[in-house]
Amino acid sequence: MILNNVNFETYFKNYPDKNGYFGKYGGCYVSDELKGAMEEITEAYYTICQSRKFIAELRRIRKEFQGRPTPISHLERLSNSLGRVQLYAKREDLNHSGAHKLNHCMGEALLATYMGKKKIIAETGAGQHGVALATAAAYFGLECDIYMGAVDIKKQAPNVARMKILGANVVEVTEGAQTLKEAVDAAFAAYSKEYKDCIYCIGSVLGPHPFPLMVRDFQSIVGIEAREQFLEMTGHLPDAITACVGGGSNSAGFFAGFLNDPVDIYGVEPLGRGPKLGDHAASLNFGTEGVMHGFNSIMLKDENGEPAPVYSVASGLDYPSSGPEHAFLKDLGRVQYDMVDDKETIDAFFALSRMEGIIPAIESAHAVAHAIRLAKTMDTGSILINLSGRGDKDMDYVIEHYGIPEK
Ligand SMILES: *Cc1c(COP(=O)(O)O)cnc(C)c1O
Repeated sequence: MILNNVNFETYFKNYPDKNGYFGKYGGCYVSDELKGAMEEITEAYYTICQSRKFIAELRRIRKEFQGRPTPISHLERLSNSLGRVQLYAKREDLNHSGAHKLNHCMGEALLATYMGKKKIIAETGAGQHGVALATAAAYFGLECDIYMGAVDIKKQAPNVARMKILGANVVEVTEGAQTLKEAVDAAFAAYSKEYKDCIYCIGSVLGPHPFPLMVRDFQSIVGIEAREQFLEMTGHLPDAITACVGGGSNSAGFFAGFLNDPVDIYGVEPLGRGPKLGDHAASLNFGTEGVMHGFNSIMLKDENGEPAPVYSVASGLDYPSSGPEHAFLKDLGRVQYDMVDDKETIDAFFALSRMEGIIPAIESAHAVAHAIRLAKTMDTGSILINLSGRGDKDMDYVIEHYGIPEK
């Protein structure tokens, strides 16, 4: 497939380029100090991660520890309730620790051990990335520092407990608003001092090069498996695929399997309470080009050009930008980025729970809601949803804020 001069047959060879650009998006906007550290990781990525030994070891870990391949489920009762279109879900909720995040955390931590690093560090907002990384650190015997705002620590007690049980150090950040932004700043500051002994493990297809590349590649197992499984199951490709987009890792990995196929690809952004700035986190739909957290992409800015406050019912989608590859795929017209609001999402959360026996993460429920909406516009055909995670973490929140609906 060729679109706006981009040939998708050779896409992965050319994007990103050697400086980490997808078209004009991406790059490596960090201090001179950290530039060296990023170059070291880039070099390691291109050599170590392409080596037979690394690939074989990661493959074994995925199978024996993570539980890959995750299955595809045919959502028959949900499909029948909508009409003739058939819905399917790639079950990343069945990954060990309950979401797709472990796919890149295990890759990043394995790379850290090959590089001889003793420690991995990261920030976390809701704690999902922190838990996945703490899991990986425990598996490999690495030290793990997770920076987290004091406000988030209070709000996310179960994830803080998980990280501590797994042996991670949860470092409380008490600057400013004491949430994700301050945690990112504190983690980067610590990394600038400690980069010789540790690597910073970014939690999505975000940040300076090589992270958008590396995280996409580690996540691409989702799309590669899904394509093969779907063909085997049905004898054809899906007509459409859909995934939720926060930073963009589960979607980037899922899409990677289908970019060169005649398949309609949809990313789903959280419209939250509505289109007013501050009420959503739909950065690709409402944002403009700009640099933050080390990369150039499309982002939501306040009146001073700083990252704007964002909101979503799903804490994992609550970020004022998305990875540079998504900005690129949007400009090319290869992926359509739609939006789903809180209400449609919660309706889909209960629909999937009650008709299929699968409680999805609220993040993933955005993709389910989108597939339901899309199915209603199609006569026949099939839609494959990436179910990025399970909803155990969200149950208390949903009951408290929405109650249990009548049957
Ligand atoms: C973190 C998270 C997301 C959002 O992150 P992406 O990088 O956009 O994939 C989506 N779903 C679940 C279950 C998550 O934990």
